[in-house]
Amino acid sequence: MSKREKRGQEAFEGPIVVWIRDDLRLDDNPPLAHAAETGRPVVPLFVLDEESTGVRSLGGAHRWWLHHSLESFASSLRGIGSELTLRRGKAEDHVLDIIEATGATTLFFNRRYDPASRKIDDAVEKALGEDVSVERFTGNILHEPEAVQTKSGGYYKVYTPFWKNVSETGFRDPMDPPKGLKQPDAFPKSEKLKDWDLLPTKPDWSGGLRDLWTPGETAAQERLEHFCDELLEGYEAGRERPCADETSRLSPRLRWGEISPFRAWHTANAYASRRKTIPDAAIRTFRRELVWRDFNYHLLYHFGRLEADNFNDRFDNFSWRTSAADLKTWTKGLTGYPIVDAGMRQLWQTGWMHNRVRMIVGSFLTKDLLIDWRDGESWFWDTLVDGDIASNTSQWQWVAGSGADAQPFFRIFNPITQSEKFDPKGDYIRTYVPELRDMPAKAIHAPWEAGKDILAKAGVRLGVTYPKPIVDHGEARQRALEAYQAVKG
Ligand code: FAD
Repeated sequence: MSKREKRGQEAFEGPIVVWIRDDLRLDDNPPLAHAAETGRPVVPLFVLDEESTGVRSLGGAHRWWLHHSLESFASSLRGIGSELTLRRGKAEDHVLDIIEATGATTLFFNRRYDPASRKIDDAVEKALGEDVSVERFTGNILHEPEAVQTKSGGYYKVYTPFWKNVSETGFRDPMDPPKGLKQPDAFPKSEKLKDWDLLPTKPDWSGGLRDLWTPGETAAQERLEHFCDELLEGYEAGRERPCADETSRLSPRLRWGEISPFRAWHTANAYASRRKTIPDAAIRTFRRELVWRDFNYHLLYHFGRLEADNFNDRFDNFSWRTSAADLKTWTKGLTGYPIVDAGMRQLWQTGWMHNRVRMIVGSFLTKDLLIDWRDGESWFWDTLVDGDIASNTSQWQWVAGSGADAQPFFRIFNPITQSEKFDPKGDYIRTYVPELRDMPAKAIHAPWEAGKDILAKAGVRLGVTYPKPIVDHGEARQRALEAYQAVKG
């Protein structure tokens, strides 16, 4: 047999390394499913890479989630006779090392879309040369960025036409999880998850996260079923009520890939077609939200450094205020605006915040306080369990007015009327701002406007038990509009 033929045969039989990243699941995970189908030995690998150029370090809440999700995924792999190899450091070095150590001839992974990850993936493929075949799959977004184009061949910067375009094209069905994975002669040496110190210890601030979340694929699937069974029917109206648990809460599951968007879409559709009580509007809105996530990935792919650069470069000259004190007040939920403070405390306690309230606190930071959206984005990145490289950056820019299809800068959320509209009884505020627990519904949204008797009866002393407002919204709004005039162009 010639050398070339021998190499060809080895390539056909050698082990396949499946490089797992933000896809911590067995179900509908194309690299795993295809690797299993070949019948060849499979080596699942996860590399925690915070060293390669341009890679963003994980936030504190991310680390907590990742630890538990990896634990759960490793256990699922053991259930089908496989093992997860863990490595920490530069991904390129570790992937090449594992390929060498196992004699693998093939590398499979799902595509990534941010500039730093794309660079790493391309570098790995280049370094492997012709001896190792590399195959990339579509696992984590419904529509590949190159597949959705405007009539002139560009990319969409406005959501509605993007949605219209993708609504007319289909996408693949979800794939079943592999029942088993063939083992290599020996699994490569793995690091120990506990040595990575991903969990907070001194102090352990993760109690609120533990109370709300169970990371891992099984819990993700259970939540999807629960959402479709119990909540989808009322989703259209329920999704606007911050005090209720009426949205899917799949965002961290999708962020870490514990569930695929294909599975979420198909499961919801299946419920909607079986159960006639689920209104068309509800399933359509849920699909629109899932596709909104894709849209953010398209922007990221085509634009690049969404976390750093204004999508709309007119904002490059915007004079943001620098105030470490005001930023801290906002992060701590002590602005004196109850709906803003409730949101910021929900985030701190649970690692998640309701979408409506994300918009309100974002508007408050960038418009009422005139603080740069990047500061808000960084805080969210550090504290959200779903902090996502595409959605967090794109949505912060949307709120600030600098993003694609952004809300116009002059649309400044009024934190009082928003609060009255979306938390009319004040239940959300009472949950996270217990100092205001005994305030009547009418007065809870703007306590500084309440009469002395009402405050005294509720045991509230402004400036003592609960802060006075950090700014006057009317004046802050005027200041924001004036600042905007300078960059309006
Ligand atoms: P559901 O209402 O059940 O929606 C289903 C899914 O659709 C979500 O899980 C999510 O994946 C997707 N989705 C819904 N709304 C949006 C949206 N506006 N943009 C993108 N995807 C959406 N979402 C993140 O996943 N990660 C983030 O880091 C993030 N940061 C945000 C920052 C700001 C300032 C704002 C205004 C929004 C941000 N969002 C982010 C979007 C949205 O708030 C969350 O996706 C949503 O609240 C998650 O809750 P859910 O899973 O119950 O949503």
